[in-house]
Amino acid sequence: MKQFDVLVAGGGPVGWACALACARALGSKNSAPRVAIVDREQGGVVGPVSVDAPLSRRVYAVSQRSIAQLGGWNVSLDRSRTATIEQIVVHTAACATPALTLGAADRRTEAIGAVIEHEALTARIAQAAQAQGVLRIPGECIGADCTGESRTVELADSSLLRAKLLVVADGRESALASSLEIAFTERSYERRGVVAHFQIDTPHRGDARQWFLPDDTILALLPLPDVNGAPAVSMVWSVSESRGAELLAMSAEALCEAVSAATDGSVQMSAVLQSAVAFPLALKRMPDPVADRVIVVGDAAHAVHPLAGQGVNLGFGDAQTLHDVMAAGHKQQIDLGSALLTGKYRRQRYAPTLGLALTTDLLARLYNLGQWPTLKPFADTGMQVLGRLPAFRRLLSSAAA
Ligand SMILES: Cc1cc2nc3c(=O)[nH]c(=O)nc-3n(C[C@H](O)[C@H](O)[C@H](O)COP(=O)(O)OP(=O)(O)OC[C@H]3O[C@@H](n4cnc5c(N)ncnc54)[C@H](O)[C@@H]3O)c2cc1C
Repeated sequence: MKQFDVLVAGGGPVGWACALACARALGSKNSAPRVAIVDREQGGVVGPVSVDAPLSRRVYAVSQRSIAQLGGWNVSLDRSRTATIEQIVVHTAACATPALTLGAADRRTEAIGAVIEHEALTARIAQAAQAQGVLRIPGECIGADCTGESRTVELADSSLLRAKLLVVADGRESALASSLEIAFTERSYERRGVVAHFQIDTPHRGDARQWFLPDDTILALLPLPDVNGAPAVSMVWSVSESRGAELLAMSAEALCEAVSAATDGSVQMSAVLQSAVAFPLALKRMPDPVADRVIVVGDAAHAVHPLAGQGVNLGFGDAQTLHDVMAAGHKQQIDLGSALLTGKYRRQRYAPTLGLALTTDLLARLYNLGQWPTLKPFADTGMQVLGRLPAFRRLLSSAAA
């Protein structure tokens, strides 16, 4: 049976980031692999993404803080698959002009963040992780038992792997966390995130734009790299289940018209580049993402409404904390799966994950679920007034970036 210090289950962006974090913390580059990842993705996300490949439908707004963190771990973004976010522009129903604009200058950095497709991001993190000595094991985890001073993980092909610490990163539906009986709460928003890419008429200038619309839907348009020499954006429109079904059933022309109309004509969609798909939106939270020799990370531990575009960034925060905790444990020669270290992780991640869950949930209730309609005008006005204060702008742009 193969034995590792850390075994990561799940090869999404957060799983690979955690594997890289642990390998860097343990300095396993030139020795036998101490960190391994079970990755069930077919086709190997580890290969480079071809320049000519059409942009994938799944893109993330990655904050400047996450970019700096990954850069410090030798992950360079694939610039051909990335668009810089220069400015965040928020519109509310109450106001013809933007209620809030946040630029890189508010934070005194070059940019607020970047929009990058899932495959290119994951591939670059995976390359850096493997260069750091992480072993990729193709397969699917089906269970994990605690045996003395290690966790034994069983794969679908019946092979067994053993590690001092198991990091569960198998996404929002996490079958592994369920099999370990780690408690969580999940509340459906009964809303769909409708995602599509569009070609647009005029350059986006790096604006990430969001509309809190009067029909209690939230529309976000993120800048994309030019497609065939033309400007493009990625849409996430948080709508009711029935409106989601209507949008999916529309012709390309009708969808372009509907989205352009929702922006009040300020952004004109000229063609659909990636047809619309819809994702169910939910708030998931694991009050305690730690069990005996197990840490649960990423969406497996916490999934939030996409209105703040922070889900993957929260997972990269998990990876940073895991790095710091593992590095300290390695230095002090503490058992890497010990309750001392996992408890340290639990304490450090409690406030950031709870804070983002509460903030996004509050905004979703106010602007997407139509709860507290009498409060909405006050929130709109508050955003406009506070949005003029430099200190508040700095605070918000740091939170976003
Ligand atoms: C509509 C929408 C828009 C979003 N937009 C943004 C955005 O702009 N910015 C942002 O930061 N976030 C965004 N998010 C959130 C983001 O998608 C997630 O936070 C992110 O994907 C979480 O990454 P992860 O690695 O934890 O999970 P995942 O990306 O779900 O990866 C989990 C991995 O585990 C694998 N796996 C599952 N089960 C097993 C198993 N048993 N054995 C082995 N492997 C397994 C899966 O195949 C997958 O590769 C958005 C979400 C939605 C729904």
